[in-house]
Amino acid sequence: MMSGFEEPSDVNGPQHFEEHPSVVALLRGETCHIARAVKQRQVTAVAVCQHALHSIKRLNPSLNAFLNVDESRVLEEASEVDRLVESGLPVGPLSGVPVAVKDNLCTEGQPTTCASRILADYRPPFDATAVDRLRGAHAIILGKTNMDEFGMGSSSEHSAFGNVKNPWDLERSPGGSSGGSAAALASGMSPLALGSDTGGSVRQPASFCNLTAIKPTYGRVSRFGLVSYASSMDQVGPMARSIRDAAALLSVVAGRDPKDATSAVQEVDDYLAACELPIDGMRIGVVRSQVHRAQQEEVVQGVERAVDALRARGAKVVDVALPHAHLAVSAYYVLATSEASSNLARFDGMRFGLRERRASLAGTLQATRSEGFGAEVKRRILLGTYSLSAGYQDAYYKQAQKVRTLICRDYAAALQQCEVLLTPTTPTTPFRLGEHMEDPLSMYLADIYTLPISLAGVPSVATPVSEAGGLPTGVQLTAAPFREVEAIRAAAALEEALQTKGRIADLALSI
Ligand code: GLN
Repeated sequence: MMSGFEEPSDVNGPQHFEEHPSVVALLRGETCHIARAVKQRQVTAVAVCQHALHSIKRLNPSLNAFLNVDESRVLEEASEVDRLVESGLPVGPLSGVPVAVKDNLCTEGQPTTCASRILADYRPPFDATAVDRLRGAHAIILGKTNMDEFGMGSSSEHSAFGNVKNPWDLERSPGGSSGGSAAALASGMSPLALGSDTGGSVRQPASFCNLTAIKPTYGRVSRFGLVSYASSMDQVGPMARSIRDAAALLSVVAGRDPKDATSAVQEVDDYLAACELPIDGMRIGVVRSQVHRAQQEEVVQGVERAVDALRARGAKVVDVALPHAHLAVSAYYVLATSEASSNLARFDGMRFGLRERRASLAGTLQATRSEGFGAEVKRRILLGTYSLSAGYQDAYYKQAQKVRTLICRDYAAALQQCEVLLTPTTPTTPFRLGEHMEDPLSMYLADIYTLPISLAGVPSVATPVSEAGGLPTGVQLTAAPFREVEAIRAAAALEEALQTKGRIADLALSI
């Protein structure tokens, strides 16, 4: 028996599993407490993981957040951490902390499907660098989370394995494409998660599920082992129920990686220390034109609540402009689909995953891609191939690159006038499942606030601002390249002022 916590009475089967209230409380709280309790032998990593696995068994059938959970490997890795602790060997900052990982991050020997039929049976022979660093910090990879196929979508409905539900309202979307990671956090199944963000895929689900997510500066986190969608924007992003947890996770995964030539040779800052810094005198730039464009009053009120709270803590609120941000949706959907059309050419039925054998090579290729890709992925490959074609690249691809340059300049100018930009994350609160499925353009337009930030490559923290009881909504705090600390500092102040830390949806009533 260990001090502080008792071991659960039976650990061998869900039917006999008894939850231990103190371990449940630990899993619903901040992850530094889990790591500390494991290090101090107040609880075993195995007990922590058993509880997380138990909640997945209970809740995942209703949410469809996890696509794959390898229970025995989870428990094996947890007992390895316990062995290290028992032998007095040093353990990492996330010792025994379960982390849900989006299914487009490679995990050695374990399915990595990108929620696509074409990769349904793919098991990579290596770990993504972000995953490798998590293991190095002695975190436990709890399972792989559902998503829009290859990251293409904003609702997690474009998954070959069924949509994800929002734990705050099962009729609504948890956002996307990292909707599985978001639902895992918001329902309490996992205390930490990794997602990926190309055009908003950690920020928008965070906003839809009352969570915090960090889209790091392009190059801050290695993309090695992150299955490519649009390589000039893809970034791995931490997701959590508090800014401190997200910052702790970023500290583990950030930093130069020789396996990714686009990862930056740039010192990793102390993101946890940034959470403790006051914000007096900090200049917060509000982009009024974006606020006015929000479609729902709740979103506007959320921004105002954030402005008031930051001002009350001593920040100086200034108005700034991003004159070209409204062009971001058009530019992004040309550039992202162009890059996707090139990146996804590798799925040819020869090298990875699905192979639909036909008499000829061309027939095999055609059948594999026809069967393997879903409708949205096909739509994007077609759009991108068109934009890159000899006759149209000047009109579309090059034009979009020029717009991207203008947007980058907008951010550089705006971030001279303030340390952090404040904008809404989404134009609406979570939409209903199915609401945008018949009209792809309306789904694309829902990304208006996240896309300009992705095109500019700057870091942004999405944090909740909704009032308890209302539908989730959030704001983005965006900083200059590699100044994540500024955005984190502002997010920590906001989280404290609005008391948004650690929100978990109570699903017991709805399922
Ligand atoms: N919703 C955007 C898209 O569909 C962004 C997705 C993402 O960031 N992976 O491309």
